[in-house]
Amino acid sequence: MKITFWGVRGSIPAPGPETARYGGNTLCIELRTAAGELVIIDAGTGLAQLGNMLLPTAFGKGEGEAAIMLSHAHMDHIQGFPFFAPIYIPGNRFKIFGRERAPGRLEAIFEGQMNPHFSPVHSLKNLGASFEFEALRESISSEAYGLTVRCLTVPHGSTNALAFRFEEAGRTLCVATDAGYPEGSLPDEVIRFFRGADVLVHDCTYTPEDQAERRNRGFSSIAEAAGVASRAGVGELVMIHYDQDYSDDQVDVLRERCRAFLDEEGGQEIGLTASAEGMILEV
Ligand SMILES: [Zn+2]
Repeated sequence: MKITFWGVRGSIPAPGPETARYGGNTLCIELRTAAGELVIIDAGTGLAQLGNMLLPTAFGKGEGEAAIMLSHAHMDHIQGFPFFAPIYIPGNRFKIFGRERAPGRLEAIFEGQMNPHFSPVHSLKNLGASFEFEALRESISSEAYGLTVRCLTVPHGSTNALAFRFEEAGRTLCVATDAGYPEGSLPDEVIRFFRGADVLVHDCTYTPEDQAERRNRGFSSIAEAAGVASRAGVGELVMIHYDQDYSDDQVDVLRERCRAFLDEEGGQEIGLTASAEGMILEV
């Protein structure tokens, strides 16, 4: 698997000179399977640039096909969708996977975002591409584009989000973009879910101090991300979903401190990367 980061910021885009190194777009990760199939994880504003990059490929000719897997439908995870150029080209096909709730709910969320109050497009039906919506069921392995995909519901403020576990040819990538664990306890089921992953991309929204004041927002601190990574024995922790108010220099400090937390937790062998827009990682 190869992953490319197109948006690594949480909650709201944060453009400007202070955030240019890590980037200001919200969550979007491109996952390519060994066969070159495309699985997009989250549709934040980074998706717009991924779309532009896809135009010279089959997607520009209406011959593209991809999966979009959504951790949840908060705005920082869906807002890039109306600006994803391949959806306007007839012939392209997208399968959108999300958390299981009431039937049709996932499609209704996307349809709602195209409502004339929010978008001149009015409806998904006015897009050229075709869409299929599918609920991901927790604890059931799905096969998608040659990958084995499992998901787990993790707490996220007053709601939940999905964490993903992708496996291909003996390699494992876990992704948990938004995870707000109960204070002082990292759930065993979460540790089990991430166990032995080669790469864990994990919510690192806050310093522990900022998180203490904003726990109800449902995000992880770097200390929690380091704790989860150490206990699960992952190969590498990749930080993501930085608070919109953190400058690049503050994210540098976040990374240094996260390294120290990993070492304290017995995770000296665990690699640590702070994701940034444009970064490519082989899993
Ligand atoms: Zn988010």
